[in-house]
Formats: sequence, C-alpha cells, structure tokens
Amino acid sequence: MGSESTDDAAPPLIEEDWAVFLDVDGSLAEHAPTPSDVRIDPQLMQALPKLAELCGGAVALVSGRSIQALDDLFAPLDIAAMAGLHGLERRGHGGAHAAPEMGADFLELARQAEAIAAEYPGALVEYKGGCLFLHWRSAPDAAASFSSFAERVREQLAGHRLHPGAHGIEIRPIGVDKGIAIAAFMEEAPFRGRRPVFIGDDPADEPGFAVVNAFDGVSVLVGGDRPTSARYRLDNPRRVRQWLFASLDRKQAA
Ligand SMILES: [Mg+2]
Repeated sequence: MGSESTDDAAPPLIEEDWAVFLDVDGSLAEHAPTPSDVRIDPQLMQALPKLAELCGGAVALVSGRSIQALDDLFAPLDIAAMAGLHGLERRGHGGAHAAPEMGADFLELARQAEAIAAEYPGALVEYKGGCLFLHWRSAPDAAASFSSFAERVREQLAGHRLHPGAHGIEIRPIGVDKGIAIAAFMEEAPFRGRRPVFIGDDPADEPGFAVVNAFDGVSVLVGGDRPTSARYRLDNPRRVRQWLFASLDRKQAA
C-alpha cells in the first residue's frame, strides 16, 4: 500500500481507449446493513451497457462478492467480464476461471464461524473457494469474537492471509487480490493495450490502484480519508455514478 495521499482531484472523464475496472460495494453502490440489502441504481443499470459499448467491451466488475452474487445483483444485465472473490474467480471474454473446491478443513472452519455469528444478530459469514468473509457492519459487538477467531484460523490454515477491514475481516488464499485480477484482465482482449482505470473504496482495493498506477492508469479512491496510492478521488458512490454518466453524455454530445 502506498503512503502518498490523494490530491482530492476528480478523475478525468472516461475515454474510448480505456479499460474500466469497477469495484461494486461502496463504489458503484452505497453500502447497506448487509450485502443482500444493496441495490443498484436504475440509471446505472442503463449506463453500464453503454459504457461497455463506448470502451469496446473493456469494462469489468472487480469485487469481493462471488460472480454468482454479482450476476444476481445486476440481473437482468449480462455483464461479460467480472472478477469475483477478489479475483479468486474470474470471467472474461475469453473464458472463465472458477474458484477451487473447498476442503473439509475449510468447511469445518466456516461452520465454526457461523456458530459465532449465530450469537450476534446481524453478523454474517460468507465463504466460497477458500475465502471466508466475516461481516459485522450490522453487529459491531461481533468484531472482537470474529477477530480472535480469524487469528486462530490463520494459525490453522496454511497459505491464507487475514485482511482486516472497518466492518469485517476476510481470510483469503495468499496470491489473491484485485491487483492480480486486473493485471490478468490486462493481458487479455479487449483490455490489453488500453489505459486502465480502477474505482475502489476499500483497503482491499489498494493492490488494484498499484497495478493501475504501474500502467500509468487512473486510480480513484471513493470516499475515505486515509493513506492510499490512488491518484484521484470521488466523494461517494453517487459521485462515481455522476462521473460515469458525464463520460457517456460527453461522448453522446460529441
Ligand atoms: Mg468496495
């Protein structure tokens, strides 16, 4: 993670030769008490296909959610390119890379996490493909129990890392992050050779900012007054949507 701070500047409008990578929760859509309460703005639903058309199909969602959850959230839109579970699973124009199967040890840990969650109404456990997400946005009292559980998991589960966040903690296989996912897309058509832009709000988005910066791209932090390697900033998901709409409007007017 870089230590330079943002210059508080809004990013330039999207150009036709860009590759657009978008985090979802907290970036395109406002956070909600639980992930299943998040809704996608109807105007954004209309704009995403136009954005893909503008950029030759080089638009991908890059999220901590699973690809299945993203498809459900954006239904009936058919979004071709997605990285789910921080890139553990990826779907591009040239095919898909599925998350690996979960072992019995991992499933047992997930069951233990669910037993903890049951003690705190609103606490939430998600797991898929070797990722375990413990959410306490709606149950702050669960933070201490979940955090100490995650520490125990790290000791038991080789090859995994903890990623603490403001409202939860994630346990992910080493070598899985949004930067690696974006770099993989950038090796494939239609992303290859384009200037990448990545919009994200979370510490988990920092590896994405670093990769985009390495391509001399446009890294954009949403909200958040914290150290970041993002070069631009937008205040909230509404501002992100306005920036997308303005990019489309300008092209329509041209
Ligand atoms: Mg986010």
